[in-house]
Amino acid sequence: MNKKTLTFKAEVRELLDLVVHSLYSKKEIFLRELISNASDAIDRAQYEGLTDKRLVADSPVWEIGIVADKKARTLTIGDNGIGMSADEIEANLGTIARSGTQTFLETLKAQAGSNAPEMIGQFGVGFYSAFMVADRVVVDSLRRGEGQQAVRWSSDGEGRYTLEPSDRTVPGTAITLHLRKEQDEWLEEWEIKSLVKRYSNFIAYPIRFAADGKDVDPKSAPLNTMRALWRRARNEVKEEEYAEFYKHLSHDLNAPLRTIHFSAEGQLEFRALLFLPEKPPFDLFLPDRKHGLHLYVRNVFIGADFEALLPEYLRFVKGVVDSSDLPLNVSREMLQDDAVIRKIRANLVGRVLSELESLKRDRVEAYTDFFRGFGRVLKEGLHFDHENGAKLKELLLFPSERTAGSGLISLRQYRDAMPSTQTEIYYLTSDSLENARQSPQVEAFRRRNLDVLFFADPVDEWILDTLDEYDGCKLRAIDRGEIELGNDEEKAESKKQREADDKQYRPLLDLIRAKLADDVKEVRLSTRLTDSPCCLVADEHAMNPGMLRMMRAMGQPVPKQLRSLEVNPAHPLIARLRKLFDADRESAQLAECVSLLFDLALVAEGSQPRDPRAFTQALTNQLAKE
Ligand code: ADP
Ligand code: MG
Repeated sequence: MNKKTLTFKAEVRELLDLVVHSLYSKKEIFLRELISNASDAIDRAQYEGLTDKRLVADSPVWEIGIVADKKARTLTIGDNGIGMSADEIEANLGTIARSGTQTFLETLKAQAGSNAPEMIGQFGVGFYSAFMVADRVVVDSLRRGEGQQAVRWSSDGEGRYTLEPSDRTVPGTAITLHLRKEQDEWLEEWEIKSLVKRYSNFIAYPIRFAADGKDVDPKSAPLNTMRALWRRARNEVKEEEYAEFYKHLSHDLNAPLRTIHFSAEGQLEFRALLFLPEKPPFDLFLPDRKHGLHLYVRNVFIGADFEALLPEYLRFVKGVVDSSDLPLNVSREMLQDDAVIRKIRANLVGRVLSELESLKRDRVEAYTDFFRGFGRVLKEGLHFDHENGAKLKELLLFPSERTAGSGLISLRQYRDAMPSTQTEIYYLTSDSLENARQSPQVEAFRRRNLDVLFFADPVDEWILDTLDEYDGCKLRAIDRGEIELGNDEEKAESKKQREADDKQYRPLLDLIRAKLADDVKEVRLSTRLTDSPCCLVADEHAMNPGMLRMMRAMGQPVPKQLRSLEVNPAHPLIARLRKLFDADRESAQLAECVSLLFDLALVAEGSQPRDPRAFTQALTNQLAKE
């Protein structure tokens, strides 16, 4: 192999540029990232060595070494893990082969301040954090297995890197950092020791240190304790230890919101240590987001990000599961459909959901904050996990008319506050909370002091398929079908009134209907308006907008669904229409007003008028009239 110079892919260049020129805080996390890579490399070697003995022919004693050399101003992090071939180095350290990279870079740019370095680790590009402290990084690696050649990768982070043969003779990898000016603190023994204690104490392999560029003494005491927290009894573990371990797993800066630590015994034996984060990670909705759980079998690491252990909608849960019922040489694919895994999974889901339930019960405010961050993911669960539907329903929170747009309430709270005459749970879907609150549809409810839940989150439309009922009460969209409020007496009274009004208004209503034939299905007097002149109402059985969007996305023909226009006879605008109508039903002015009426209904619900120019023109005309 001859020495060759290669150019980083565009995303890597952009990332490096940010790392070198914009990230100044929290530089110390580079060490955690490199140690975590060393540990991953050993995990892989150990795991693959179970089935391919040639990989571990040298009977390795797994270890990680850190060597500081003050004279040369270098810091080297070495491991005897799986190593990388030239092709692997090129793929792993020259490109970012993940979707969502562009979104990630933008988020990183926007937050280049405080937490940015953490994001690098979370997104899985932690290696590049080395360039925060080094202006040259040299990687020497020898891939485990037969017939491999050692390779050296070297870069100053300015767009290019070189590949050439390396004189490394033992399998594994060493990363040498040539420190930038004024970054000498990373050569101090006490600094390295305290960083390892703080960030890498739970790494399962010994991390040893050597100063003055000497070789690491395999008999020296490791800097880390290596104790598998989940194997210890709950009452023996301190809160800080849980927090450290969580930070190590999640690359999160904050302590976890809740810790769930238990061991299952009996038919199924496993231990689990799970964490609920306080704040959502930035990649919660990115396509390549990481799953949270690591799987161990009898304390041997099998793999990270095990999606089979928890459903997708609980992907924010971080932690470790250690089972003694699985064979050691299992593959990820085999596990997808394994009966033991399925049982563990059902157990874990139950634990997480009841933990959330108890958080909601004991610390409403903390739960509300949690829900603001993770509610959308839990709602996914309602759509996909029917088995736990009842539990998930209890976990939902919504804004409502009564919470004045700031607070959130549960279905339970809504149900308990319903007056005895109310038999249905009222809700309104809208594309924003602001629009929902100002919607004319809510007026009659507000006046009668009836609460309305607002479904203003885009995913809410999806969950409506599942959420048709709660505790014996149907959910009822207040912008659909005809709505009758009040007790029986009031209903009878208002019906009489309406029939009388209807006789009076029928000719006008018919004319409006005729003029808006392309846009509305029906025109009728409204029972739900008090302050607004008009609103649009869907059919009781109309498809919801989410469904329509899905049909459109699947390329199916979408039926045009006309809604009904409801008008408020008590409103002066409708009174004026009647005057115009009585004077001359053919007048151009009446026609213009009718057309405006429909567009006003659209604008009131936060939609666009059909033709904004025609709309402003008509409005201007009418305003200019004496
Ligand atoms: P991540 O660890 O999340 O995959 P990194 O940027 O930290 O992202 O590392 C990129 C990749 O480089 C790793 O996935 C791994 O394939 C490779 N790598 C990094 N360090 C080592 C190492 N010490 N030994 C073997 N491979 C490594
Ligand atoms: Mg890494």
